[in-house]
Amino acid sequence: MSETHVLIVGAGPTGLVLALELARRGVDFRLVDRAPERSRASRAIAVQARTLEMLDLMGLGGDTLQAKGHPVSGGSIFERSGTRRIVHIDFSDLPSRYPMMLLLPQWETEEVLQTALAARGGRIERGLELSAYSTSDRGLIARLSGPAGEARAIAAKWIVGCDGGHSRVREIAGISFAGSTYENVFALADLRIDGEIVEDEFQVFTHEDGPLAIFPLGGGLYRIVADNPPASFGDDPSLADCQALVDARGPAGLRLRDPVWMSRARIHRRSAGQLRRGRVFLAGDAGNLHSPAGGQGMNTGMQDAFNLGWKLALATGGVASEDLLDSYEAERQPVEDAVVRASDFITRAVTLGPGAARFLRDHLAPLLTGLPAVERRIGENLAELTVRYRDSRMVIDRGVRGATLQAGDRAGDFELAGRVGGRLFEQFTDGRHVALIFGGGHTERLGQALQARFGAWLRVLPAQSLTAGYGTEAALYLLRPDGIIGLRCAAGAEPLDFVEAYWARLSGQTPAREIAVA
Ligand SMILES: Cc1cc2nc3c(=O)[nH]c(=O)nc-3n(C[C@H](O)[C@H](O)[C@H](O)COP(=O)(O)OP(=O)(O)OC[C@H]3O[C@@H](n4cnc5c(N)ncnc54)[C@H](O)[C@@H]3O)c2cc1C
Repeated sequence: MSETHVLIVGAGPTGLVLALELARRGVDFRLVDRAPERSRASRAIAVQARTLEMLDLMGLGGDTLQAKGHPVSGGSIFERSGTRRIVHIDFSDLPSRYPMMLLLPQWETEEVLQTALAARGGRIERGLELSAYSTSDRGLIARLSGPAGEARAIAAKWIVGCDGGHSRVREIAGISFAGSTYENVFALADLRIDGEIVEDEFQVFTHEDGPLAIFPLGGGLYRIVADNPPASFGDDPSLADCQALVDARGPAGLRLRDPVWMSRARIHRRSAGQLRRGRVFLAGDAGNLHSPAGGQGMNTGMQDAFNLGWKLALATGGVASEDLLDSYEAERQPVEDAVVRASDFITRAVTLGPGAARFLRDHLAPLLTGLPAVERRIGENLAELTVRYRDSRMVIDRGVRGATLQAGDRAGDFELAGRVGGRLFEQFTDGRHVALIFGGGHTERLGQALQARFGAWLRVLPAQSLTAGYGTEAALYLLRPDGIIGLRCAAGAEPLDFVEAYWARLSGQTPAREIAVA
């Protein structure tokens, strides 16, 4: 029987990100997928700014994906066929190197990830379907069937179910998946359109039968999505069906042609009762399914994997505490719950039938979202830049005067001064923590002490001058490999002891000296 540390079931975007994170840390893993080849279905098209930043932190470069996709600077929701704008979303001011929503068919995103995985020596084993697993004294034994139906067994210390909404891993683990299926049916198509359409924004047109959305994919290609298509619009729709929908609900004068992909889908909102049971984890759609409204599904799945990857790598190295592994669910499930709620709200708001609620939406929304602060906040939320884990056991906050960034927040990227150069987010390529020291006279000694004591798992950057967001006094920030501030502490507050305490939480070891940490 073959053996591995981590068996990843499913090579969609979630499984690929996890494999990449393990590969760069030299962790032994297997990545299996039952499909003999990658699906060419377009599916998710929105790549959010935080996902592009994540690719920077992974050492892949968000600009690799950016070069393939079509960026939009915002989106508008119109009352009926473009007559009056009721909501505007702005990405152009996002506090990120990527002030955009990038539009790119899912299979192309997966292809970029797969190519990067090959460059790191990893591969997908296709045609292998997990059917069962059992627990042994050495870990888990997974049963799979091969391309010709032959039985295979793999012994693994950990199994991660990245196997989508119908997850077999979740089913075998006996984890519930409560929620519901929306009544709405959605029509989707990627095709070319002749006529006047803005290229710099996505547009949604509300209509009494259901909204129609148009997303520019670049090169004359567009995604159309419509709720509640007529009964004649079957599972295998025709170009004429799509044309009729756009004629009825969209702006006048658009001619559709050359369809690449047309489909009809039901959507769901469901959450797993647990994301970890013993040695088994769930990530991506296997753990949470939400409405595609807001374009979050694929992005949150990849970020689940990004959160789990470095923790599992420490576990396979024998140094992760149970607290660290539990923090995966503790940190990600609240984020997923919020996405389920927000995408549900958006779905219901744009699909409102005639009545008082729709009247309020059409008349109140322009007033509220017309406020620049509200418009910006909606953009930041959709871009997933506001995700934070301030309540996590795996972050320690000791306060820094004048700082707006706290432990648990996404670190702010900036150009580094001194001999390292480049941007902060480029400093994570070896998968270790990063120690950032700001200002003050004795910072060099602090850096040397950190390097000597903790150099195996963290990288110390040369001291930086005080930077916006990080406060107005000399301070130490310890950044986790996922770009989250794991510890912040003023330089005058015995930072070495706090790093010791942080490491104790990660590893489950007793700290060299007990200190009071919230
Ligand atoms: C029609 C449609 C439109 C969508 N549009 C959007 C959108 O606009 N925006 C958005 O964010 N999201 C959208 N989504 C959702 C998005 O596609 C998913 O959130 C995303 O694919 C989740 O990635 P994943 O890797 O978790 O799962 P998946 O992509 O489902 O990958 C799971 C993989 O596991 C494999 N697998 C399953 N069972 C087994 C097994 N037993 N053994 C081995 N392998 C197995 C499968 O073959 C598959 O490759 C859409 C989905 C659909 C269906």
